[in-house]
Amino acid sequence: MLNKTKVVVTIGPATMEKEQIKRLMQNGMDVARLNMSHASYNFCTDVIEKIQELNEELHLSIAVMVDLMGPEVRTGTFTNGQAYFRKGDKVRIYMDSVEGDSTKFSVNYSDLIKEVQYNSIIKVKDGLMLFEVISIEKDFLLCEVLTDGIIEDKQSVAVEGVKLHLPRMTKKDETDIVFAHKMNVDFLALSHVSCQEDVLAASDILIGLKNDHIGIISKIENEDAVNNLDEIIRVSDGLMVARGDLGVDIPLERVPGVQKKIIDKCHRAGIVSIVATELLSSMETTIRPTRAEVSDVANAVLDGADAVMLSNETTVGKFPIETLNMMEKIINSAEKDIDYLEFLERHEEKDKDITGMISRSVAECASKLNCSSIIAPTMSGYTARKMSNCRPSCPIIAVSPNPSTVKSLQLHFAVNPVLIEELKDFDKIIEVSKKVTFDLISTKPGDKIIITGGYPFKEVKSTNFMKIEEL
Ligand code: PEP
Repeated sequence: MLNKTKVVVTIGPATMEKEQIKRLMQNGMDVARLNMSHASYNFCTDVIEKIQELNEELHLSIAVMVDLMGPEVRTGTFTNGQAYFRKGDKVRIYMDSVEGDSTKFSVNYSDLIKEVQYNSIIKVKDGLMLFEVISIEKDFLLCEVLTDGIIEDKQSVAVEGVKLHLPRMTKKDETDIVFAHKMNVDFLALSHVSCQEDVLAASDILIGLKNDHIGIISKIENEDAVNNLDEIIRVSDGLMVARGDLGVDIPLERVPGVQKKIIDKCHRAGIVSIVATELLSSMETTIRPTRAEVSDVANAVLDGADAVMLSNETTVGKFPIETLNMMEKIINSAEKDIDYLEFLERHEEKDKDITGMISRSVAECASKLNCSSIIAPTMSGYTARKMSNCRPSCPIIAVSPNPSTVKSLQLHFAVNPVLIEELKDFDKIIEVSKKVTFDLISTKPGDKIIITGGYPFKEVKSTNFMKIEEL
């Protein structure tokens, strides 16, 4: 199955073994995500090394995304990793670290005690668990449990209607960015951004590290970010609709509309969009998803998202590989229902330049001539990104001798990046392109492919040719 919509898979205890990572890579994972709210450096190093080894072994270029914790409040840890809370019970929430149980737990934000009031509602675990403040003591908050349920280690904490005074960039985030740079990862996801300055704070650190290849994905998970979408888009390589926290900060019923708006704005701006969280939640414990979940994944595809993401389903779920297979099946079916020419119309090429015009023509030809693939030889990834933005009906095979470019394209709709030895003479590229198409797609004599890019390679920065070849 050569799907166009990309899949980001979060790696956790359920998928950390090399054999499981290999199966994820062979079954459609395009980007492996490491969530710094939970993962230790030892865990991340181990997983990244396994992916690097498997990329070599399987001749793949699966990318790695480090998702920063961001300035957020989280619970501490619990004896045995979790605790059960019963409605009506009284619980103490401490500002200093304590081992949690059914009567108490701690949070990692000492000013929480100053920023809540009597009767404030504290939402834990993306709002699933609610606690009402009934008394503010010297070093803890006494709360009544409003909902029955279990809380595991390091769950998210928010206060209804209160904007907490958290710093723009935490020490942990700074250290995690340096770690991501040293491990040569491909994407950095920024949690809880509110405005473009939050994104620029991370970019500044990368510039200081002379890292010019990490793609920045801004997670949209609060009302301020929703209000500042345009300025955040201007300084990001992609946006993630982080529906877990977003559904706590804004009313849940607004999330679908905001999701559609984000996908559309990203498409128009030419950056990637990722739809995240609870897409196939029920598969954490059961082998089949609900009809509603299948619709949710399909609708993200039909709306034009570049990528969808799995979280708990693959970190702690019982059926991680089956969940990924199900995701790929839903994507495959939904993509058959996309009206690609309508997508192309929707995407008005703002820059009426040579690259814009050629990309549009290639996408139109690919759909109307029913081409098998578009081959985009590229140094920086520019041609492949432009082509992806035109949403062609066939796969784009981006061939590049640059390993960072290849991995940077893993989030882009329809792009299959392939590492090749060199990009020199034109005839050689056509030969390589035909071979790569044979390797990736089942073709028959007479099938058409389109080759597009900037020639002379390495010298021009724009896309200036298209050539149609029959196999
Ligand atoms: C989310 O909130 O939906 C999300 C993707 O972020 P995290 O998994 O870090 O909570």
